[in-house]
Amino acid sequence: MSHQNNREYQLDTLAIRTGHTRSFEGEHSEPIFLTSSFVCENAADAAAKFSGQIEGNTYSRYTNPTVQAFEKRLAVLDGAERAVATSSGMAAVHAVCMAYLKAGDHVICSRAVFGSIISLFEKYVVKFAVEVTFVDLEDLDAWKNAIRPNTRLLFIETPSNPLAQVGDMQAIADIAHAHGALFAVDNTFCTPVLQQPIKFGADLIVYSSTKYIDGQGRALGGAVVGKDTLVEEINSVIRTLGNSMSPFNAWVFLKGLETLSLRMKAHCESAQKLAEWLDAHPKVEKVYYAGLAHHAGHELAKKQQSGFGGVVSFVVKGEREGAWTVIDHTRFLSITSNLGDVKSTITHPATTSHGRMTAEAKQAAGIVEGLIRVSVGLENIDDIIGDLSHGLDLI
Ligand SMILES: *Cc1c(COP(=O)(O)O)cnc(C)c1O
Repeated sequence: MSHQNNREYQLDTLAIRTGHTRSFEGEHSEPIFLTSSFVCENAADAAAKFSGQIEGNTYSRYTNPTVQAFEKRLAVLDGAERAVATSSGMAAVHAVCMAYLKAGDHVICSRAVFGSIISLFEKYVVKFAVEVTFVDLEDLDAWKNAIRPNTRLLFIETPSNPLAQVGDMQAIADIAHAHGALFAVDNTFCTPVLQQPIKFGADLIVYSSTKYIDGQGRALGGAVVGKDTLVEEINSVIRTLGNSMSPFNAWVFLKGLETLSLRMKAHCESAQKLAEWLDAHPKVEKVYYAGLAHHAGHELAKKQQSGFGGVVSFVVKGEREGAWTVIDHTRFLSITSNLGDVKSTITHPATTSHGRMTAEAKQAAGIVEGLIRVSVGLENIDDIIGDLSHGLDLI
């Protein structure tokens, strides 16, 4: 099934049936082409393939059938023309920078993006004479005011981590396009199952497939998705830099995509229950989840997303001591910063993912000492709630 006929089937069907061309062996499950290179028929065949005259695999840094199957499947789910897989989510963001930024350019990035993306811009991209301005995701005037004649890229993540701020994609896309800039969206948290940023004007979508697309915390990977012409440039960067996806990891992600729709529904359902339970809990001061009607981004999330996602953050009484009490009294939740796993994970952002920020910066960003982030897994929701109760009852 190629991505041309993507209107014929629903997303869950496409997630299972796209991308694999059965070989002469008649295999049912997608094979793993764990090979670094490919053999040519003769010298003329090799010359034609290397020059690009004819299509064909030569070397797995350039193309690999298992990786291509993953790319086709992901692109279809996003309603996009093309995807290029990368060795990690960070490699995907890096490739966007390498492909589309040059000395003298300017980037506007939401302040509420994944920590390593801030570091990538602040520490490394600026070394190449590219200027970066960070703005509040929800403040559209700040986005407009930050535009300069040399602005080339606007970058957001929505909903944000850990406070689930929601960015107005169409509004930010319009600002970018009015000034000839590209608009990129990190869609790791929603995946194409819950949100398709192309419908809201995104030019490029980046993923860490390490999270929900794998779904079982096994492999690192990422992708850039968008129009063929834009993604071709990313492809060219990846095959040169070498941060391409391994065929084995691509196979893990292919299998992940097959159950993604079911898993996302279950993550959303449990997260909603947990958020509502926490919201009514006397030891909890605040809950950040876009599925709650009082959440600032609730209406916008309803417009952009078909579900509110699997990550719930909340502030408990008692500052750091309260938060650590809850974390340390869980019996099966994993104390780890990974997310999007069938296993629920729990983190204290102020001392881990956001630990390097200054006290003032943390306060301004809402990363208070009492804040806890839970990535709600697929264990029974009553057990997850029970596990969080042990510590909450002690505060
Ligand atoms: C994890 C993550 C990344 C980085 O992905 P890696 O696969 O760890 O490189 C980027 N964006 C978001 C939103 C993430 O959660």
